[in-house]
Amino acid sequence: MEDKMSDAKMAGGCMCGAVRYETAGESFLVSHCHCRSCRKHNGAAVVTLAGFKADQVTFSGDERGIYASSPGVGRAFCGKCGTPLTWEGDGGELGPIFEFHISTFDNPERLVPTCHAFEPERIPWFDVADNLPRFKGFPDEGPVLHHGPVTEGLPSG
Ligand SMILES: [Zn+2]
Ligand SMILES: [Zn+2]
Repeated sequence: MEDKMSDAKMAGGCMCGAVRYETAGESFLVSHCHCRSCRKHNGAAVVTLAGFKADQVTFSGDERGIYASSPGVGRAFCGKCGTPLTWEGDGGELGPIFEFHISTFDNPERLVPTCHAFEPERIPWFDVADNLPRFKGFPDEGPVLHHGPVTEGLPSG
């Protein structure tokens, strides 16, 4: 944890700029999430999230709106422009966490995904030609289902 990236700051915010945030240090996990709730919140086929512990995160500008999508889980958004910003809640041994939609970072290209979560909920017509591990749910809760796109059931040649 003492490497030179550990002090790296990143910044982001909503589309209109009213809500801004800054993160300090590295994300503990950057992942694609295929779960239905993330897709609903974002109106997207897949959502890419970067997780940070609460003490790495500072908000500024307008207060973010929070929709309680389930007990203990908040999904934040800008009250002016509606940009979805976070999944936030209890991260278990990490304590309170914020998972930011990486599209809201000013430099999302610096956050590189390492896995897929909730692979079974993926919209079948959407896939990515990566070779990352894919999990049934949260990566810390279960085994790897497979790596890369599903090929079973497709013509083999
Ligand atoms: Zn906004
Ligand atoms: Zn999700």
